[in-house]
Amino acid sequence: MPVKILDDNLINKIAAGEVVERPSSVVKELVENSIDAGAKFIIVDIKNGGMDLIDVSDDGFGMEREDARMCVQRHATSKIESIEDLYSISSFGFRGEALAAISAVSQFSLQTKKKGEMSGVMILNTGIKDNWEIKETGCPSGTKVRIESLFYNVPARKKFLKSSATEFNHILNILVNIALVNPSIRIKFIHNGKIIFDYPLAEGDSEKSFGQRVKAVLGNDNFSNMAYFCKEAGEMIIEGYASYPANVKMNRGQQYLFVNNRPVYNNIVHRAIYNGYRNLIPKDMHPMFVIKLDLEPEMVDVNVHPRKMEVKFLRQQDVFKTVEAVIREIVQNQANVSSQIPSENNNYQEFKPRQFNHPVSSNFRLPFKKSCDGSVRAMKFNQEMLGSEKTQAKEIYSNDKQEINDKNWKILGQINKLYLVIDTADGIVLIDQHAAHERIIYDKLKDSLEKEDYKHQQLLAPVKLELSVNEMKIVSGNLEIFNNLGFELEEFGTTAIMIQSVPTDIANKNIIEIIKGIINDFFDCCKDDLKADEKSLEAIRNRAICYMACRGAVKAGDSLPYEEQEKLVMQFMDGDIKPTCPHGRPISKKLTFDEIAKYFKR
Ligand code: ADP
Ligand code: MG
Repeated sequence: MPVKILDDNLINKIAAGEVVERPSSVVKELVENSIDAGAKFIIVDIKNGGMDLIDVSDDGFGMEREDARMCVQRHATSKIESIEDLYSISSFGFRGEALAAISAVSQFSLQTKKKGEMSGVMILNTGIKDNWEIKETGCPSGTKVRIESLFYNVPARKKFLKSSATEFNHILNILVNIALVNPSIRIKFIHNGKIIFDYPLAEGDSEKSFGQRVKAVLGNDNFSNMAYFCKEAGEMIIEGYASYPANVKMNRGQQYLFVNNRPVYNNIVHRAIYNGYRNLIPKDMHPMFVIKLDLEPEMVDVNVHPRKMEVKFLRQQDVFKTVEAVIREIVQNQANVSSQIPSENNNYQEFKPRQFNHPVSSNFRLPFKKSCDGSVRAMKFNQEMLGSEKTQAKEIYSNDKQEINDKNWKILGQINKLYLVIDTADGIVLIDQHAAHERIIYDKLKDSLEKEDYKHQQLLAPVKLELSVNEMKIVSGNLEIFNNLGFELEEFGTTAIMIQSVPTDIANKNIIEIIKGIINDFFDCCKDDLKADEKSLEAIRNRAICYMACRGAVKAGDSLPYEEQEKLVMQFMDGDIKPTCPHGRPISKKLTFDEIAKYFKR
């Protein structure tokens, strides 16, 4: 074949492959253009995960007619004129090919008006090569770019798009990241006509407005469990928010890292952050953080990834040490005060500050309790923990009043605040109170779920739960499943839900913790799109029931009043109950009189 110069249209389509991977990359390019244009308000309105429509409008400085005509040409940019500019560029795009590439693979229109001009201009591609329709139009100042039917003429690329939910999720992630570092821009995001978020323009100095925006994105509750820091260390400024050690999460869903205001992933920094938390949080838990690193541009190489998602530092070691030290200091200090921060839903308010009054040694651990589902929770710090173990361990609450009943058993009492001891006709039985109760609740929940006769209990007053934008998305996308589980939840604005009713069996338990646990299961089970398919749905249901059972059951350490002991043992002894808890641990151990006699050589 003869060597040929590719025509522009084909070049644009090839470029589109690089710049426009999926709807979220279009959104990113367009929103970055709006930011470069000094916008104070950006609206992103999409349909069907951006596959049918992406509409980005801003109130930035707009373009004149000639610029509007030019901007869709390849290498058309107003942001660079000379090679020097390339190195000092501070705006987002500088390749001048985003609009050319995007418009080559979509039905594209752009409407723009410069401030002060009487009328604006609209350009749209006609579908014929190099043929643009340009017309005058009345419109507000700013720019509005509308993309319909992305990849309609590149079927190979279209085929690689995932479900609408997945594409939506990518867009949400991009927008949330952009929102976090642009607090002085109001950003509104609409999907299929529904407002996903509308973050108001955050006022005040940069520290204050950043804080306001982080709060808007992560939700009040998460925000009140994070500490602010801003440190200058050598050539780097590190600013951000990070969880108190007692408020870590079971997933990595709330971690945001920026280098020079760009969202990035960087292994070194992530490791350094986790190192900062080392020994202060359990191994399989994850801090929430929003961290911004600012360095001289020469100190960062942003070109290791085509879309600049990863960065490399010139002095990796310095960055690592600085981040680790800063986080460490913050986290340790916060361990001191976390108890004093009032928070509505803070389960750990009872921490006594004095336990941290001495310097935290490297092997110091917060009193975390491993629960049977593998999750770890901080235990309430109470006097008992200082008591010697022996005294609490050997207590026996004997109960002489109770005769062996007609069922042939009698409760002797509870030992070690965990095991119930039962006298039976042919030996004694030890029951793990938590495991047994868990199994009972689990079976009941499962049964009613299968029969679909879930018993809701209306709460006297609905409980409001503030959620981060990601958590919110999970709840709103899966309301029916929550419903099936016995929760009646209602979206309350874009940042909170109202809990109206809950499954009867867990009505008096920590509902908020349980709902958060179920949300976490969604994060774990449904990878990309946060919407469960049938298989993961089954897994989620099962895990949710497990979780509810585990959290709803009496705990090891709860001293049970006699009536409760009796209720539990009655269900265990009479019921047809499996020998293990839902996680597979045994519930009981019987020591027959024969075995005992053998041991004593009788
Ligand atoms: P780049 O951003 O790399 O310059 P683009 O293809 O994204 O390339 O945009 C081309 C040009 O179009 C920009 O340089 C800018 O002058 C203009 N432009 C694009 N979007 C907007 C907008 N929202 N407001 C004002 N001007 C814009
Ligand atoms: Mg651009």
